[in-house]
Amino acid sequence: MHHLNGRKIVVASHNDGKLREFAELMEPFGFEAKSAKHYGLAEPDETGTTFEENAYIKALAAAEATGLPALSDDSGLVVDALGGQPGVYTANWAEKPDGTRDFAMAMRKTEDLLQEAGATQPAGRTGRFVAVICLAWPDGHAEYFRGEAEGTLVWPPRGELGFGYDPVFVPDGHERTFGEMTATEKHGWKPGQPTALSHRARAFQKFARARLGSP
Ligand code: IMP
Repeated sequence: MHHLNGRKIVVASHNDGKLREFAELMEPFGFEAKSAKHYGLAEPDETGTTFEENAYIKALAAAEATGLPALSDDSGLVVDALGGQPGVYTANWAEKPDGTRDFAMAMRKTEDLLQEAGATQPAGRTGRFVAVICLAWPDGHAEYFRGEAEGTLVWPPRGELGFGYDPVFVPDGHERTFGEMTATEKHGWKPGQPTALSHRARAFQKFARARLGSP
């Protein structure tokens, strides 16, 4: 009973950057992926303390409201020198009192804390982006797929592409930040190709293999 044969899925996110990445990742599979925004759904409060809990809250709310399977992603930046912060609070660090988000401010806060921690050399500035995709059905059944991208935090921010904290994150094995990479470089992945670079694409790849019959 937990299948995706209807080829209809709700992407339980209001984040335009994520929605764009998901739309590109879903495209080869012929899914009709509509966003929570499209269905006029409210954004539930993310009260969990793990990526998995928050991903479940979002996916279940969208599945219950639409009667369709829903796919959500909870993601964030985990910085080793900051004891794993901002972690599940990555989006909160960008929140301003008026409710809007300011990622320049959030990146600055992260940098200030790294400086306070004495983390000035690349070896002390390691971290990872984490994405947990949750696929939930209206009856509460859920499946999880986790992807991680290891890298180093840099300062000042570089690049205008991507979203969120992309301009301060250099993935391992690369010189440029995610903010300096094209969408194809960051999360481009087609079935049958080698592992993708971004955390979200890596989580998606696991989901596609488990659920979409991808090689
Ligand atoms: P949430 O998953 O909606 O709670 O928010 C996660 C937050 O992590 C986003 O608002 C972004 O700031 C950040 N984030 C997640 N994925 C990425 C990414 O691929 N690039 C840059 N920032 C990201």
